[in-house]
Parts: sequence; structure tokens; C-alpha cells
Amino acid sequence: MADIRLEGVGHSYDGGRTWALKPMTWTWRSSRAYALLGPSGCGKTTLLNIISGLLSPTVGRIWFDDREVTAVPTAGRNIAQVFQFPVLYEEMSVYDNLAFPLRNRKYPKAEIDQRVRRVSQLLGLDEHLKRRSRRLDPGRQQIVSLGRGLVRSEVAAVLLDEPLTVVDPALKWTLRSKLKEIHRDTGHTLIYVTHDQTEALTFADEVVVLNEGAIVQAGEPAELFLSPAHEFVGHFIGSPGMNVVPAEIADGLVKVGGTDVGQAVGELEPGPVHIGVRPEFARLGAGETSPGLPVRVTSVDRMGAYNLVHVQAGDHPMIAKTEADARFTPDAVEFLHFAPDRAFLFRDAVRCGSI
Ligand code: ATP
Repeated sequence: MADIRLEGVGHSYDGGRTWALKPMTWTWRSSRAYALLGPSGCGKTTLLNIISGLLSPTVGRIWFDDREVTAVPTAGRNIAQVFQFPVLYEEMSVYDNLAFPLRNRKYPKAEIDQRVRRVSQLLGLDEHLKRRSRRLDPGRQQIVSLGRGLVRSEVAAVLLDEPLTVVDPALKWTLRSKLKEIHRDTGHTLIYVTHDQTEALTFADEVVVLNEGAIVQAGEPAELFLSPAHEFVGHFIGSPGMNVVPAEIADGLVKVGGTDVGQAVGELEPGPVHIGVRPEFARLGAGETSPGLPVRVTSVDRMGAYNLVHVQAGDHPMIAKTEADARFTPDAVEFLHFAPDRAFLFRDAVRCGSI
């Protein structure tokens, strides 16, 4: 395993007119499980292909520990890569497919057998080991591809590009936890690309959020949820995402539509900001001591375990997540309270304070 360091790495597909990946400096630390999360077209695959050597960056240098690999082709980088769709030798058995990367690198026979059996047991492939790969359904073939990516011990990193796309949704949960188990076992550096926040949050030690070709925040799942550094992270992580409404800082107070909703915390110039609060930390009620924003209830989604109460704050729709037995009726006027330390202020989409 190696630290993978990107130094000013960026990529343009159109001769520098636009950046699919804006020049960035970033280190993937050895043995960690990363999720690279972002919407379609934000540059995830571009970044992954630059690490594996399938793509040369337009600018910047890449290091695996103290070895520069910028000009080293894929074969010399010792990376295992799993793609969205199965890449297998269809005429070979599942066992031989799993053993192939190990035989290729001259692992001892006993170790090959032990590794193949360990991976196959964890991925639930034991009963399929003797079958020809082409006889498996596409979902199972993809699990074999995943196994092939994870079977080696000495790789610099394992790169997984949306590896569960063709896998049955019910199996995804199991496979994600198996992947974690395999990661604990092998200590691989894993970079798992996904646009699905649940996949990212359940899998990773650290989630790296990419938007418009730039890393906007990286951290543990709880940190991204509880403490978004950027409005985009607030929107993209969480379901539903963070509420964002325009506000104003005046005399050290935060005002929404003229109503004082709390004290501004942080080095803040007076003027317009956005205030962001997750539905989980927007409390609805009346007669409480903290300042509240008057809102009108528009509808209630009963989700079983909780309710989502849709409200209107002036021109701005917001959502509060409440207990399943809380009763709010459409058209009622309530007060929305911003939980201190859980409501954040943003300027130019970047967090600049809280209340
Ligand atoms: P998705 O989740 O849809 O796969 P992504 O986050 O992996 O998207 P990339 O595939 O890296 O994003 O694409 C980043 C940007 O670069 C997009 O605007 C895309 O249209 C563009 N792009 C990707 N590959 C090429 C290419 N070969 N030629 C030109 N533009 C490209």
C-alpha cells in the first residue's frame, strides 16, 4: 500500500478551455477506505482514471509514496480496478477468474487457494466456484469482478468505479458490509466511486465530495452530515438535504425576512448570507424560549418512522423532520427553531459561521 499524492493535478478534455478536473492537491492515505462521491459529470471517473494511469493529467504530478508515477503506464502502477460492468474471462471457472491475478503475479499455490477461498466465502461465491463465469447472471458476474479486484494483497490501491450498479438492490447492502469486512482483512487502500450518498456513507472511512471538478469537502460520514463546509455538501448529503434560505446579519444577529432567529457566531461582516439547517435540526413548535421563524405548514409526509413536515417561510419552502406521532396540520402557523451549533451560515456557498 502507498500514499497516493496528487500535486496540482487537473484535466481538460478540450485543450484547456474547460476543466473536467480543476487542478488539485490531495493525498489518499494508505489503507483507508474512501468514497469519492459526487453527481454525474463532476469528474469522478476522470480522477480515478488519472490515478490508475488510464488517463494522463493535463497538468500536475502523481506520486505513490516517494515514487513519481505521472508518466508510468497502468501496468506499472500496480493498481487493481473494478468497473461498473463485469470484466471476466467468460470461459474460465469462477475459481480460475479469481485466481488469475494471483497466478499472473506468481503467488505460491497454497496462498492462491487460501486467498481465492477467503474472498469467495466473503462474497458468497463458494457454491459457484466451479461454474463457468458466462453461466452466471450479470449481477453475480459483477461480484466475481469485485472479487478479482480484491484478491491481491500487494496492490498500491483498489479503485472501484460504481461497482454495484448492476447488482440486485437487495444484495447491495450485504455486499457493502462484506466489502468493509474485506477491507478490515486486507488493509487495501480503497477508492470507491459513487453518486449514491447511502453507498458512500455506509462504506467509507472518509468521504471525498467532488462537485464541478473540485473537492468541496472530505471527512468522516458524520462530519459531512453534521458539519457541512459548503452548501453543496448540505444539499447532496442527507435525505432530504439541508434547507437553505437567504438571511441577513445585522448587529450580530441573524435575521430571516426581518425575524431574528439567533446570534451570529463567527467573524462575520454584516450583510446577506444564507442560513442552512438540516430537516433533522429544524424543530417546529410554539412557545419556546429560543427565537423562532414563523412558518406555515403546507403538507405532511408520513414516512412511518418519522414525518416530513413541509412548511413555507415567506417565499421559501423548508422541511422539518419530526417524530412520527407529532401532529401538524396543513395551514397551521408554527415556529421553526434553528438548533444552536446545527444551523450554519454560508457566503458564496462556503460556510462562514453558525448560530
Ligand atoms: P458519471 O457519474 O456520469 O460517470 P463522472 O463524475 O465520473 O460522471 P466524468 O466522466 O469524469 O464524470 O466526466 C467529467 C466531465 O468531463 C463531464 O463534463 C464529461 O462530459 C467530460 N468528459 C468525460 N470524458 C470525456 C471525454 N472522453 N471527452 C470529452 N469530455 C469528457
